[in-house]
Amino acid sequence: MIYWDHNSTTPCAPEVVEEMQRYWNEEYGNPSSSHLMGRRAELAVKKAREQVAGLVNALPPEIVFTSGATESNNLLFLGILLSPHAERNQIVVSSIEHKSVLEPAHLLEKHGFEVVELLVDQAGVTNVDAARKLITPETLLVSVQAANNELGTLQPVAELAALAHENGAYFHTDAAQVLGKVPFDVQVVNCDFASFSAHKMYGPKGVGALFVRGGARKWPWVRPFRGGGQEHDLRPGTYNVPGIVGFGKACSISQEYIQQNGSADILQLEKELLERIAKAFPERIVHSLTAPRLPGVFSIAFPKVPADLLIDNLQALAVSEGSACSNRAITISHVLEKIGCERETAKGTIRVSLGRHTNQNDIHEAIEMLNRSMVEIKSILRQP
Ligand code: PMP
Repeated sequence: MIYWDHNSTTPCAPEVVEEMQRYWNEEYGNPSSSHLMGRRAELAVKKAREQVAGLVNALPPEIVFTSGATESNNLLFLGILLSPHAERNQIVVSSIEHKSVLEPAHLLEKHGFEVVELLVDQAGVTNVDAARKLITPETLLVSVQAANNELGTLQPVAELAALAHENGAYFHTDAAQVLGKVPFDVQVVNCDFASFSAHKMYGPKGVGALFVRGGARKWPWVRPFRGGGQEHDLRPGTYNVPGIVGFGKACSISQEYIQQNGSADILQLEKELLERIAKAFPERIVHSLTAPRLPGVFSIAFPKVPADLLIDNLQALAVSEGSACSNRAITISHVLEKIGCERETAKGTIRVSLGRHTNQNDIHEAIEMLNRSMVEIKSILRQP
């Protein structure tokens, strides 16, 4: 199987699995317990917090562990929703956010907030000039993802954070897709909040974090959950120690990977792959080709070849259709709609996301598989 769906999820790195191992059945203490096993588990969580903070240049207390980016995003909007109605009542989000931002943001509309969506250009990049007109002293929060999960486009988050701050608003970024792939520094972006997920960067599933500038104690809103007081009551609940340990390890591996490799290999493979696809399928349309993108991530349409048929046929090549999170939904992805992609082109769009282990051999094999599948699908579609 050639796996080119790393934006959906990545394998857990063997070093991560190894590090997590003993926290299942040897060091299984609860970090909230005061006995020795509890204190050892607490130390493991502390180390992981330092590793995550280290990767994004935050302070360890600014990292609040959650179950993933979905929870981190929801936590932020639920906090606002439950708080006494603020003077500022406008929330600004980009129109191509993940559903875990868009849906809780729009929930706020039922509670007296105005939610404004920032448009993106045809390449799938948020328009900063348009944002300048929409972010006002009425704005409470601006939330724009660091990279889009479907197109791979990198968003101008530092500029948008500056605009938010000029207007006295908070800035949040859903950084689930950038972590471990390209450098992400909370000081450079100057965000107030950022959401992370471990399983997109060779860590385990079911764990992530919310960066809160100044730490959980500085959380400006009502804390939506109630429980045992963990994470300064911002995310109470027994710590997922193995998951957190794995997330920490994945962050330290990523830090080395970014420093040493800088994704140069993936960029080279992407270039070769796009050239070979262009040669084999000149009719292909690569969305956002000219925009700054995550290395190895692109969304590509083969007109008149329905993506669902292609994916079913490509049994040994894993790529995804639109967004994997709206899995198998027949509706066109909202992201493709917002970049003005026609319905027929959208239906023929697949997303390719290469990973750290993708190699040249995969590219040769995948091109052959694509060639075979295209011939088969075209002959199926020609049948009366
Ligand atoms: N935000 C973005 C941009 C994503 O790509 C995803 C995963 N598809 C999420 C949030 C949700 O992350 P998690 O699976 O950790 O809840």
